[in-house]
Amino acid sequence: MTASISNSRHGNATAQEPCLRVIPLGGLHEIGKNTCVFEYGDDLMLVDAGLAFPSDGMHGVNVVLPDTSFLRQNQKRIRGMIVTHGHEDHIGGIAHHLKHFNIPVIYGPRLALSMLTGKMDEAGVTDRTTLQTVGPRDVVRVGQHFSVEFIRNTHSMADSFSLAITTPVGTIIFTGDFKFDHTPVDGEHFDLARLAHHGDKGVLCLFSDSTNAEVPGFCPPERSVFPNLDRHMAQAEGRVIITTFASSIHRVSMILELALKNGRKVGLLGRSMLNVIAKARELGYMRAPDDLFVPIKQINDVPDRETLLLMTGSQGEPLAALSRISRGEHPQVKVKSTDTIIFSASPIPGNTISVVNTIDRLMMLGAKVVYGKGEGIHVSGHGFQEDQKLMLALTRPKFFVPVHGEHRMLVCHARTGHAMGVPEDNTLIIDNGDVVELTAESIRKGNPVKAGIELLDQSRNGIVDARVLKERQQLAEDGIVTILAAISTDGAMVAPPRVNLRGVVTTADARKMSLWTEREISWVLENRWKQLSRNSGGKTPEVDWMGVQREVEVGLGRRMRRELQVEPLILCLVQPAPGGTPVYKGRADAEPDDRPAPRGRGGRGGHGGGGQGGGAQGGHHGRRERAAAPAKPAPISAPAAAGAAPAPSPATAKVGAGRPEPEQEMPAGRTRRRRSAAA
Ligand SMILES: [Zn+2]
Ligand SMILES: [Zn+2]
Repeated sequence: MTASISNSRHGNATAQEPCLRVIPLGGLHEIGKNTCVFEYGDDLMLVDAGLAFPSDGMHGVNVVLPDTSFLRQNQKRIRGMIVTHGHEDHIGGIAHHLKHFNIPVIYGPRLALSMLTGKMDEAGVTDRTTLQTVGPRDVVRVGQHFSVEFIRNTHSMADSFSLAITTPVGTIIFTGDFKFDHTPVDGEHFDLARLAHHGDKGVLCLFSDSTNAEVPGFCPPERSVFPNLDRHMAQAEGRVIITTFASSIHRVSMILELALKNGRKVGLLGRSMLNVIAKARELGYMRAPDDLFVPIKQINDVPDRETLLLMTGSQGEPLAALSRISRGEHPQVKVKSTDTIIFSASPIPGNTISVVNTIDRLMMLGAKVVYGKGEGIHVSGHGFQEDQKLMLALTRPKFFVPVHGEHRMLVCHARTGHAMGVPEDNTLIIDNGDVVELTAESIRKGNPVKAGIELLDQSRNGIVDARVLKERQQLAEDGIVTILAAISTDGAMVAPPRVNLRGVVTTADARKMSLWTEREISWVLENRWKQLSRNSGGKTPEVDWMGVQREVEVGLGRRMRRELQVEPLILCLVQPAPGGTPVYKGRADAEPDDRPAPRGRGGRGGHGGGGQGGGAQGGHHGRRERAAAPAKPAPISAPAAAGAAPAPSPATAKVGAGRPEPEQEMPAGRTRRRRSAAA
């Protein structure tokens, strides 16, 4: 995971022709974690640093961030950061990054920075940067080479900006998230004049929001949902429950306005809903009288006909208020059949299933649920094709790079660009980590830098790396097998291995599993011991116990995959015993092995070969001695006891075709049955 980015190319390009490099570390071929770096000479400037939410299979991951090794390696050159607006996919990563590198100054809109302050407090990184609030048409200098003008735009979030970035090679327009909304809810109009001004003077390159590049037409104005929400609210016979993104400031403003109009008191549920509304009201982005709100504990005192509950959960997030209500798990709010529940948001693609499940559950509880495109209760905050054309028309860029979108959206947006007269050669479709090199005359891709993802388990405050994620997936899908083996330092099995299955569905019966395990250990001792132990002259050889464990895990894993088509996590623990401990003879009751032994990996832990029908029968290759006395299973914390001992309890487990029972344990050998090892 470390490394190796080509800093070398750095010098070489400055040697030729100085160029501007624009390096997106996130936000391309995806919606989320927008993070972009501008580089000129020795200066680095960041634009936004967001997060993304995990997709299915990222167990226990709550936050996805871009890999920032490029920034960590070049942190001395970071001169500052620009924030376009306060959405999580633009500011959600900043507090985390500040734990790893300082950012001398962050410029951004008041609302976004005030939201950021809370996150930085929580992360304890307030001293790692300075926050500077900017307003419309403010210009700030970052480093030697960049000056950035903030151009007011319209978006679902209040106080949002597009950027005009002046660099030594020309002016870059970086749209940020936008739509053209000519009747903005807060009266803050898109500063079209300023865009046109830069278009007139000459724009070298446009980096533009591609989210809705596939959707024809103009994005409807935010105001258009007002009458539809109003109608549903007026028609509701009981309580109205509305869910939307807390950060959709304009939407929330309208809902509060409608509550007032319809004579309903508002109860708020969900931490982010409470936080954002408090902040937005405090800063004046939202106007609502104090007595409009009722604490949720007292909401049941208000008549249903006069109640509006506004809450999180529009994406079916399992812990959000509405999801809990739908499962009947909310302490204060239970669904009533007279409730009207309105989804004033559309599901982000990965969330569709949890959203429809939530809707189903709410309907089953008898509520009237209003959702979906046809209702006119949600509009996007991102411009459609005609908005994107208008942006191209106003800025008239020489070069064009579609950003903020999945691959097909970028392709679509590029096509729109061509239709608007940007030549194909002047357009680049890029991925995270790609480097856009711009001079006054040219655009091209340079050598990429390292880009990837970092997964965060916030509850445990740790990074979930690829290995951890793979293990979690195995645990979730195929369960876990643990093996406890007792092996002496002279390389002999001294007790029957213990095998435990949890969550493993397998057709192998208990005896087969334990037999396989035993064979695997024997195979490793017979074939790999030499490499894994070293006699350095002392009495006891040095043994690479980790190596032994790994070999057993790999071998048994391969066998289970091949024979049973399952891929559980396998965890082998070896309990070392002193040399000379009486040897465990091996499982004596085994019927002849009806499957090929896990051989066929002759040579260096190789693979394959052995498989089907291989003659290598009789897995008794591991018996190196014929000591008579069976050993008792090794206790976990003491060296395996030597000498004859009572046999372990035979706990005959049923693995059968079903799932193993809890606490199922299979002694791998039944030492009380004494038969020749050469059965
Ligand atoms: Zn946004
Ligand atoms: Zn965004």
